[in-house]
Amino acid sequence: MKAIFFSIIICCAFAINSIAQTSTTLPVLTIEGNLKCSSCAIKKTQGAKAQCSIHGHQLSFVTQKVSDSNGKEFEQYKEQVFTILLNDSSKDLVDEKNLSKKITIKGKIYDSDNMIEVETFNSTNL
Ligand SMILES: [Zn+2]
Repeated sequence: MKAIFFSIIICCAFAINSIAQTSTTLPVLTIEGNLKCSSCAIKKTQGAKAQCSIHGHQLSFVTQKVSDSNGKEFEQYKEQVFTILLNDSSKDLVDEKNLSKKITIKGKIYDSDNMIEVETFNSTNL
């Protein structure tokens, strides 16, 4: 019985350690900006064969200002284009109805894939 108990404890310790190693410690940032359709943008500027009227818009997030909880701004994220990670927290954000709105996201930036993970957001009309 004692051996089983300790085996369970050891397994739990490994599981917790494994979770800790895969969880990220990225800070939650305040990310201000707006959505744009990348397809429409490159169609307009470079003549890409976008067909948004048939296939829908491909929405990206353009940052205006990114800061941490202490108010420190990150200039390297200014005017950058990101993909929004699709999940339950972002599904209402990535919507054409938000194309003409100013959006403030509380979330994390994953530099490796230029993605934003949304925790919360709010939007206001421009
Ligand atoms: Zn479009």
